[in-house]
Amino acid sequence: MKAAIAACLAVLVLVLAGCAGGQRGGISITECMDPADARSADVRRNLAKLRGAPVCYRRQEVREGDFHWVFHILEHTKTPDGPFWVLPHDNENTAFDAGVEALLAYGGGLLAVDAGGARNFRGQDPNRNFSTTAVEARLCRAKRRPAPRYTRAILAHYEGRKTPYLALHNNSNGHARNGGNGNLSMQLTGPYLTARHGARVGSAALRDEDNLVVVAGPRPLRADAVLNRRVAALNRAGLNVLHKEVTATNFDCSLSDYLARHRLGEYYNIEAEHGARAAQTEMIDRLLAVLGIAPLRPKQRANPFLE
Ligand SMILES: [Zn+2]
Repeated sequence: MKAAIAACLAVLVLVLAGCAGGQRGGISITECMDPADARSADVRRNLAKLRGAPVCYRRQEVREGDFHWVFHILEHTKTPDGPFWVLPHDNENTAFDAGVEALLAYGGGLLAVDAGGARNFRGQDPNRNFSTTAVEARLCRAKRRPAPRYTRAILAHYEGRKTPYLALHNNSNGHARNGGNGNLSMQLTGPYLTARHGARVGSAALRDEDNLVVVAGPRPLRADAVLNRRVAALNRAGLNVLHKEVTATNFDCSLSDYLARHRLGEYYNIEAEHGARAAQTEMIDRLLAVLGIAPLRPKQRANPFLE
């Protein structure tokens, strides 16, 4: 019996050693590099804006099972503790460009998953890849195997940060059931999806059904007093909000669902239609104003709609 326990402990020690961080754990990250040396079309497209800015570019790689993930990370070197954005989809260029603007205006940083410019990477949607156990991964239709290393590598960027979890996405016009081709819209609600429309302040684009802030929680919105108040404040600032109540049956291995399921903290995802750059930047400004996160310098051109 004792021998069996000792054998089990030996195996456990080996397993834990295999999970340790650093290169051996399948995760590596470079030192700061010049953004001009990044092998990323997104970073290259923004080089003019990044030139001379206090920005560090790092390349992170995560090897897990059959997958070799590459993340492009940009961080403000003078104010690295500002808002940090995750961009899981590589085909959402407007979101990336808005993220660079946010990083320069507010500090902080962003992490963008490289999928060669496509939404999916080798058949896996990067925003359906958040799960740490086999039981959890089986809950998700678009997920075959758990990805604890991928999940932890991304979430580790939030350790010690006071700002909430933040994401940037773009979506397509409308939704499949109203003749559009998007899969997210203020018009697409259901038993677990609650839409709260923004007040009529700010630019007209904020009222577009495709421009919205996604939040998620383990309870219905009406049962979550804190989040309910936050959503009301976002609405007053002119922002549409879509809330998902995450349950064991609708958990989909997205970042929002993972954070809600594990109750890891506040999360806001700014979704804007592909190409709606000005709208997405206005949404970032308004969300951060509600969260009490000020720009590094007052915006050059004062926005008359922001009080
Ligand atoms: Zn997306």
